[in-house]
Amino acid sequence: MLELGSHISVAGGVDKAIDRAEPLEITSIQIFTKNANQWAAKPLDPAVVDRFQEKVAASPIKTVVAHDSYLINIASPDEAAWEKSLNALKIELDRCDILGVHHLVSHPGAHSGSGVEAGIDRVAAAVNRIHAEMPDGKATLAIETTAGQGTTLGRSFEEIAEMIDKIEDKARVTVCLDTCHIFAAGYDLRTPEEYARTIKHFDDVIGLAFLSVIHLNDSLKPFASHRDRHAHIGQGELGLESFRHVMNDPLLDGLPGILETEKGDDITLDAMNLATLRSLVAV
Ligand SMILES: [Zn+2]
Ligand SMILES: [Zn+2]
Repeated sequence: MLELGSHISVAGGVDKAIDRAEPLEITSIQIFTKNANQWAAKPLDPAVVDRFQEKVAASPIKTVVAHDSYLINIASPDEAAWEKSLNALKIELDRCDILGVHHLVSHPGAHSGSGVEAGIDRVAAAVNRIHAEMPDGKATLAIETTAGQGTTLGRSFEEIAEMIDKIEDKARVTVCLDTCHIFAAGYDLRTPEEYARTIKHFDDVIGLAFLSVIHLNDSLKPFASHRDRHAHIGQGELGLESFRHVMNDPLLDGLPGILETEKGDDITLDAMNLATLRSLVAV
């Protein structure tokens, strides 16, 4: 069984996310440690950090995950953009360590026309430098599978395996599998056979030991469309059966399974999606 969770707003302070999560009875959570659409970040207030850690400790939450800024592109061929991204990622990893976040989910970025191999080399070079400059870092960088829109990397398990292969400190790198993204990238989950083949392929190419986070999103766009649009669980092209396979797979036992579906103004939509997922668990 997955440790179900959701991406929760940190409006008003990171600790507020834990308050918002409480009525959902979730055992994992994903947050932004800063505004995801801006480069700048105010330093974390130590009092807020203390409150956050106290609330997590008093909650049923076992795994805390953060998602990095959408602006970061460590695959960029542009030296200035690469340097800026690398430094922003360092700041995010540092904020994760201050808060006690276990994994920072990060999109591998876009090669912007320089080619897949050049992009993968840039990603690995950035991560290796970050690791060297942050020798005591704790949070893992969880490279997220992507839908492969445009020149974005991470559309295949092979691309991610190659990044990991070129990262020296493999203890500090993990993988986040997003159900919507891999489906849009051309990995099917809809029948038991296709689901098993996809997970086996992940294990063969990357290794399930690297898997740290599952993102649970249905897909508004069709199979292999390379378009990334999340839908509510069971209301998209993946459908309920795909999530039944995920929810009952013993190979994924204990991993955080986090919703990134549309939120609305309150917890109603998250509660609906969590109820759907829980209803799929075979007893
Ligand atoms: Zn993401
Ligand atoms: Zn995701």
